[in-house]
Amino acid sequence: MLRFAPSPTGDMHIGNLRVALCNYICSKQRNEPLVIRIEDTDIERNIEGKDHEILELLALFNIEYKEVIYQSAQLKYHRAMAIQLLHDKKAFNCFCTPAELDAKREHAKKAKKPFRYDDTCSHLPAEETLDNTNPFTIRLRRPQDDITVVDAIKGRITFSAFDVDSFIIMRQEKYPTYNFACAVDDMISDISLVIRGEDHMSNTPKQIAVRDALGYTKTIEYAHLPIILNRDGKKMSKRDDASSVKWLLKEGYLPQAIANYLILIGNNVPKEIFTLNEALEWFSLSNISKSPAKFDIDKLKFINREHLKALDPKELSRYVGFADDDIGALAHLYLEESGTLNELRAKIEPIFAEKTVPQQYQESTNILKPIIQNAPFFEEYADFQKYTMQHSGLKGKDYFKSLRLLLTGAEHGPEISDIYKYLKNYLAEVVK
Ligand code: GLU
Repeated sequence: MLRFAPSPTGDMHIGNLRVALCNYICSKQRNEPLVIRIEDTDIERNIEGKDHEILELLALFNIEYKEVIYQSAQLKYHRAMAIQLLHDKKAFNCFCTPAELDAKREHAKKAKKPFRYDDTCSHLPAEETLDNTNPFTIRLRRPQDDITVVDAIKGRITFSAFDVDSFIIMRQEKYPTYNFACAVDDMISDISLVIRGEDHMSNTPKQIAVRDALGYTKTIEYAHLPIILNRDGKKMSKRDDASSVKWLLKEGYLPQAIANYLILIGNNVPKEIFTLNEALEWFSLSNISKSPAKFDIDKLKFINREHLKALDPKELSRYVGFADDDIGALAHLYLEESGTLNELRAKIEPIFAEKTVPQQYQESTNILKPIIQNAPFFEEYADFQKYTMQHSGLKGKDYFKSLRLLLTGAEHGPEISDIYKYLKNYLAEVVK
């Protein structure tokens, strides 16, 4: 079983989507189900409705899954496991107050040492613990040995037992911390491979320590995907618009192009343009680069254009707001100069709108317009051209620019003969 574990705390970041795609691909390749775990235990940071938004995006990207688990619904297991650990003396109650801990943290900072819990409460006699009515947290007893993580991308990394620390697994209010909930849930769901962002790397030994303490012997494989950098070489953050999947979709990038791009970056792939289904055949975590991936919107635009080109005319037509093969074919012509659906719409919409003509072509378009409006239907552009040229008396640039302006509202664009092919049945709607 694999899992994708988003937190419903904000818009889906491209890094999260990349993690979801990799999980989906690996689950298909391994023939193991994928579960979606909504990590909603940080109540203060949860945003109403984000869970549904995430699920809608997964559907849009064709990421199939077996079921959705809400982490908050697992609380009974988290509590039961914490009690088990206390019973086995693998965990202990900690009565240190936040103020005391802050003072120790400050002390460590002054001494330029990382703060680790000093185990003040780890050996309190049982009677003392039972009689104490003060608030307490529950901490996992730090492991005896160092913990080595074998990562499919990063290789072997050993964390010292000191750094794993006697960390808090249950807060004073008896709700689990992220590391504890995550470790227990991965165990309960029988997860075999965890794919997630490398910002979670330092959590991994803690989560392994939890399961070791619970006596769980199955080894879970890990793959931590490197971060995605923006053009300035900084981590893509909320401040980068393009980091939001919703924003990219709104700009008119197709889901299949975004997926293609997110599988491509920081990876060694056999070809540049592909579908998710094709990626199932060759994707391998072992080909993912250890160093950060770089996000380049121009490259994404190039890939998007290729996916737009691959759409059949009817689909492309629908995307630009029409329902006709001819308009799809017309839109196709404009793909040379547009890389997103928004850019494409900005080319197609003026064709059907009232035209504004530059001063210098005012006179010639005024002559040509009624002639086109009253002309008989011509199947061939050559015949149409001959007729309208003769009847208008216009020549050369005056004729061609005016015709282009009347047909498209723009001074430049694809070949007029190509445009005519797809607009000849719409001249009444176009030339107005
Ligand atoms: N909820 C975490 C996140 O959104 C992911 C945790 C995990 O995959 O283990 O970053």
